[in-house]
Amino acid sequence: LMKLAKRVAQITPSKTLAITAKAKELRSEGYDVVGLGAGEPDFNTPQHIIDAAVKAMEEGQTKYTAAAGIVELKKAICEKLARDNNITYKPSQVVVCNGAKHALYNLFQAIVDPGDEVIVPIPYWVSYPEMITLADGVPVFVEGAEANEFKITPDQLRAAITNRTRAVIINSPSNPTGSVYTREELEGLAQVCIEKQILMVSDEIYEKLIYDGREHVSIASLSPEAYDLTVVINGMSKPYSMTGWRIGYAAGNEALIKAMTNLSSHSTSNPTTFAQYGALAALEGSQEPLEMMKAEFDKRRKAVVKLMNEIEGIHCVEPKGAFYLFANVSEAMKKGGYTDVDEWAQDLLEKEYVALIPGSGFGAPNHIRISYATSLEQLEKGIARIKKFVEES
Ligand code: PLP
Repeated sequence: LMKLAKRVAQITPSKTLAITAKAKELRSEGYDVVGLGAGEPDFNTPQHIIDAAVKAMEEGQTKYTAAAGIVELKKAICEKLARDNNITYKPSQVVVCNGAKHALYNLFQAIVDPGDEVIVPIPYWVSYPEMITLADGVPVFVEGAEANEFKITPDQLRAAITNRTRAVIINSPSNPTGSVYTREELEGLAQVCIEKQILMVSDEIYEKLIYDGREHVSIASLSPEAYDLTVVINGMSKPYSMTGWRIGYAAGNEALIKAMTNLSSHSTSNPTTFAQYGALAALEGSQEPLEMMKAEFDKRRKAVVKLMNEIEGIHCVEPKGAFYLFANVSEAMKKGGYTDVDEWAQDLLEKEYVALIPGSGFGAPNHIRISYATSLEQLEKGIARIKKFVEES
């Protein structure tokens, strides 16, 4: 028998895994499964980005780079942060990682001592609590009210802070809810963090996917005090359809970035060399493909909200960003005699062949997440089946 370290034994198996495995099995048996679980854009990486990576490879960019990434890319990231987010960094304040996920992982390793607390708003992206736990930290959950579009308030934040609190995570636009914090809301949260001197981990990976002309505000841009306490996390996966390239980054305090770079240097060495050249092309090249993708997501978003809200027993707030819809299915569950959203989702898959993500994995047991990173045709088909499932259960 293999004895495993406590560290890995404590990791919660992904709740979504069971659904995904079942969906695969049904598909292989020939069933027409509609997949609404995807966490990545359904578009190809734009051609000019692919071309840049191929060219880099052909020119010999196939060796190690500096652990924090190539200087050209770090400079381009600094320019992007200044241009888009109104925050000024030096390249020494930026570390390029193997995805935003890796940047977050290194960040928690770098700031959390055993027993330190990190405040995680509910609903949360599945990996935050696990990453904090793997750093021997303690996730402290604060639930955003559905009536407030699942966003937490300054008073809630203040009430959750103890003398062990190290940081709070702010993910706007949010996975799984699609919520976007306004400038005023962020000012309120930043004020509390400054007063209590806790770090703000600002995960801005869905920044480019905000609809109806709303603005994305980075909490780091609000004041010099907020800037000093914020670590900005961002990456290429979502805006440029580059999930498989594994390029993301963190920007913030220089000593912290150096510590994170040291962690990389002894674990991953560097982000894949030619992928970094692709990322450089993504930041410096045409943003037209991104605009086209966003317009398509927006069209689907409007259709999906309308169709889902037409189902009796299901209601959802309109997501303002990302490509997810977070729907409350508590009435639909009650009607069918369900108390567990995992079972509801499992039956939906087995009876109507629709795969979606139950909210339990995000800390929200009355909700489900639908991804609209799939064609309108598939979305319409999937939602029609959900309607049938609810009506017949
Ligand atoms: N943060 C959030 C909120 C996400 O949803 C994801 C991906 O699903 C990531 C970070 C990580 O993205 P990546 O590691 O591909 O850059």
